[in-house]
Amino acid sequence: MRAGRAAAAALWTGEALLHRAALRWDADGQLLEITPAEAADPLLPGLLSVGFVNAHAHLELSHPGGPVPGGAGSVAWVRALGARGAGPLPPGALAGAAAAARAAGCAALIDHSNSALDASPEEADQVAAAMAAAGLRGVVQAECIGLGPARVEAQLAAAGPPRQVAHGVWVRPTAHSPVSCAPGLLRAALGAVGPGLPAATVHCDEDEADLALLADRAGPWAHFHAGLAALRPGHDWAALLGQAPSGVALLDTLGLLGPRLGLVHLTAARPADLDRVAAAGATAVLCPRSNRHITGRLPPVRGLLQRGARLALGTDSLASAPDLDLLAEAALLADALPDVDPAVWLRALTTGGAALLGPAAAPPLAVGAPLPPLLHLPAPALADPRDGLRALLDGSPWPRRWLQRTAGAAA
Ligand SMILES: [Zn+2]
Repeated sequence: MRAGRAAAAALWTGEALLHRAALRWDADGQLLEITPAEAADPLLPGLLSVGFVNAHAHLELSHPGGPVPGGAGSVAWVRALGARGAGPLPPGALAGAAAAARAAGCAALIDHSNSALDASPEEADQVAAAMAAAGLRGVVQAECIGLGPARVEAQLAAAGPPRQVAHGVWVRPTAHSPVSCAPGLLRAALGAVGPGLPAATVHCDEDEADLALLADRAGPWAHFHAGLAALRPGHDWAALLGQAPSGVALLDTLGLLGPRLGLVHLTAARPADLDRVAAAGATAVLCPRSNRHITGRLPPVRGLLQRGARLALGTDSLASAPDLDLLAEAALLADALPDVDPAVWLRALTTGGAALLGPAAAPPLAVGAPLPPLLHLPAPALADPRDGLRALLDGSPWPRRWLQRTAGAAA
């Protein structure tokens, strides 16, 4: 590597938004300094940033044909997904999806895999290998689903232990959702925390049906469980499921809410649940395009922001979103909440998800530390960097380029 220097109209370090800033690094790739740009610096237009972290995806659902029909809620969507019966992914689809995520500006990704449900731990490892091959860091969360004690043990065994499959890419067990897991499974799968181990993420309160099931054993999820139970005589699903007013409340009761947990969706979360999420320091992982497609509504972002909750963004799968472009998720929220400081979305695009992975996966810029890959989003150079951010979040498919550290030029 050659020593180099780059300057941009706006620089997002992962922690601060700087106007007309420059970076200098040495031949070992160590960041030497961050300074104001000098008059002689060729200024990259738009934003130079640490990479995005897509905090929720399902690369296994990258079948051709686009999203399955939505709009009638998550239970109907799950049934439609099952009815499509897409089967295994075509050759190259997994690698193509991982490469698309990287090309869209993601440095790291938090994926969810059905490997435990399929009793095929190698499926999660294959996703992790595809991520590594695409240059992504992150974690594949092997989802466990089950209510009966034997089922719980089998799912945990099928998910396998936390493991590092490639440099910077992990596989770890998680629970699918409070509506599909016994309390014991939630505890065992989500409670695995430790230094260096990426946090667990779990689907939570995506739909009013989640709350109806957990609170009253009613609604479409109750019909879904009853249908499965009809195939297994003596399976007392209602007694095996946790009971609480919501998924957030159940996880709180179980002592699982905390900074090492990401709660995916929260579309139907009530104010009391937003209080719980913020007080615990858990991260809300928002997938607004998927929510709009499946449930027809957006997550309660303003309530989360008012409480100072941590936010991350995810695309969800290609079965409920048109692509793996995380910037489009932020653009949708910026459009829905035009009064919110656009730096909030920049933080959610990057640092929010990075906090769930641990600092090594997608680090902020730090003088004296290795320079991480930098993402350049060319956009009109505007006098105020926040106006420039608003332009980047206008929904346009702005190009993404990874800065080549060796030459200090975009490639
Ligand atoms: Zn999901």
